[in-house]
Amino acid sequence: MLTKDQAICLRTVDYSETSQVVTLLCRRAGKLGAIAKGAKRAKSAFEGPLEVFSYGQAVFKAPPSGGKLATLTEFGQQPRFRGLRSSLYGLHCALLAAELVDGLTHEADAHPELFDIFVQFLSDVQEARGRAESLALLVLFELSLLQETGIQPMLKGCANCRRPFKPPWRQVYFSSSANGLICEDCEQAFPEKTRLSCPVGQTLSDLKGLVTAPEAVLNDVEKVLIYHFRELMHREPRMAKHLMK
Ligand SMILES: [Zn+2]
Repeated sequence: MLTKDQAICLRTVDYSETSQVVTLLCRRAGKLGAIAKGAKRAKSAFEGPLEVFSYGQAVFKAPPSGGKLATLTEFGQQPRFRGLRSSLYGLHCALLAAELVDGLTHEADAHPELFDIFVQFLSDVQEARGRAESLALLVLFELSLLQETGIQPMLKGCANCRRPFKPPWRQVYFSSSANGLICEDCEQAFPEKTRLSCPVGQTLSDLKGLVTAPEAVLNDVEKVLIYHFRELMHREPRMAKHLMK
C-alpha cells in the first residue's frame, strides 16, 4: 500500500551510484528511513537527488515486515527552502536543528506539531537578518523540540527545589540529569551540570528577553542547550562546532 505525506528531508546518504538512503520527517507518518532508487539519475520520480531540506509530497511503500527501510516511489519537490543556502550562519543553524530532530525522534512516531514548527523555523531562519536573529530562532526551536518530544526542561526556577528563578541568585547552573536550572543550594547534589552567567539564566527563565538579548548572551544560551543535547544524545552534535566557533 502506498502512503502520501508531506515530508522534509533531514539526512541523505549515497547508497549506490544512482540511489540514496534518506531520512524524512513526515507530517503524519513521523520519521522515516527510505530508499530512493535511481534518485541520482537525470530523470527520476524525485525531480533530482534529494538534499537536506528538500520539501514536498512524498509517496512511499512501508518497509517489508522485518525490513527497516521504506521505499520512496515519488517526491514532488517544492522549492521552499532553497534560500537557506544564501546565509552560511543561517544554514548552520538549520542543519543543527535537522540533526537534533533526527537525534531526538523515533521512527514512525508521529509529531505533526513538530513538523509544522520545524517548517516554520526553517522559513523564519531563511528570512532572518543577521546572526542574533538566527540564534534566537534556533533557541526557541530547540526548546519547542524538547517540549514536543516530552522532555521540556524546567527553566522558570530550580528543577530540584522549585524555587522560582529571580535575580539576585548568585549562582545558577543547568543540569541535564535534573532537566533544568539548579539553584546554588541544590547544586551540590548534581555532579553533572554547567554553570551559567546570571544574564544567561535570566534569558532562559524568561524567553521574552531573547528578542533583545545581545548576541554574546544568545551564544551562551545556545552553548547551554548544546551541552544539554550532548548529554541527551550521548554524543556531540556534529554541527555544534560550526556554531560555537
Ligand atoms: Zn534548588
